[in-house]
Amino acid sequence: MKRTTFLKLKMREASFISRALLSSRHPVLAHLIPMRRCNLACGYCNEYDHTSKPIDLEIIKSRLDRLADLKTSIVTISGGEPMMHPELDQIIHHIRHRGMIAGLISNGYYFTPERIKRLNKAGLEYLQISIDNVEPDEVSRKSLRVLDKKLRYLSEHADFHVNINSVIGGGIKNPDDALTVARRAAELGFSTTVGVIHDGDGTLKPLSKKEKDIFQQVKKMGNKDHARLNWFQDSIAEGKPYNWRCRAGARYLYICEDGLVHWCSQQRGYPGIPLEQYTMDDFDREYKTEKWCAPTCTLQCVHQVGILDNWRDPQKTPAQMAQEQKNGKSVGEMIGAD
Ligand code: SF4
Ligand code: SF4
Repeated sequence: MKRTTFLKLKMREASFISRALLSSRHPVLAHLIPMRRCNLACGYCNEYDHTSKPIDLEIIKSRLDRLADLKTSIVTISGGEPMMHPELDQIIHHIRHRGMIAGLISNGYYFTPERIKRLNKAGLEYLQISIDNVEPDEVSRKSLRVLDKKLRYLSEHADFHVNINSVIGGGIKNPDDALTVARRAAELGFSTTVGVIHDGDGTLKPLSKKEKDIFQQVKKMGNKDHARLNWFQDSIAEGKPYNWRCRAGARYLYICEDGLVHWCSQQRGYPGIPLEQYTMDDFDREYKTEKWCAPTCTLQCVHQVGILDNWRDPQKTPAQMAQEQKNGKSVGEMIGAD
């Protein structure tokens, strides 16, 4: 990434963070799914199929317009494998056109020099690739040996920030692989993070002693900004619950391929309201609702968004919220919103 592009991105980030701290009444990050289809079938994943069609560009643009109208700061395109969407460049271009930061999560398989240059031109700002192991196995083919050539292309041609996430847990056989992946990423000039793989419902599988040791080593090598934001991982690695306020459905939105808003990828189904009908009443209700799954949640990006508001606006259980609604209070009164 060019130094000037890097500085511009950092300035934009700083301005979005200040805006998020000044006002809690807009989404900070939305994950948008333009197609569910994926070319792989990772053993721990519940977010893909092998048959679905790409969502029409005009439909996606209208969803992006709605996110922009809600004053969303960052839109990350995810999947499935979003690089399989034939109009990904136009999607990214539209995110930028509406003034939002454009990110992408990919398994890395489709990167060629020509494709990377097109993403530069479209205005992509962030890319994250998760690499699970060094050699492909029956759990995952997101493997360093397969992807190393793609990483070299990215190192040479990408004018966007690239983060390589290595993973621990979730049936990954060799925890040492996470160290190898992080070292290679650093060698190529990328930032690195390490994640704990969640199980089928997004909650924690306890790490073994060896996994915990490697986890700490990889974390030390990684992106200092992310390390500062990911305190929760220390508790999770120790198998201890972490006390925080998940703002999914409000500051963080997960928009599935059908255009419905869900808490997150691991809690799909609720609230399940179409994005075009999602109002600030929905936003306020979810902002204020305590999530039952929060103590063992491993979703890094939602934790990071949560930090912005952890110090303010305590949450209520769904039962308390329902009782107050029954008593006739408006959502605004319940949360004391101005
Ligand atoms: S590449 Fe990503 S979306 Fe595809 S199966 Fe693996 S984890 Fe799931
Ligand atoms: S705590 Fe929030 S982000 Fe984590 S699984 Fe639950 S709803 Fe999703």
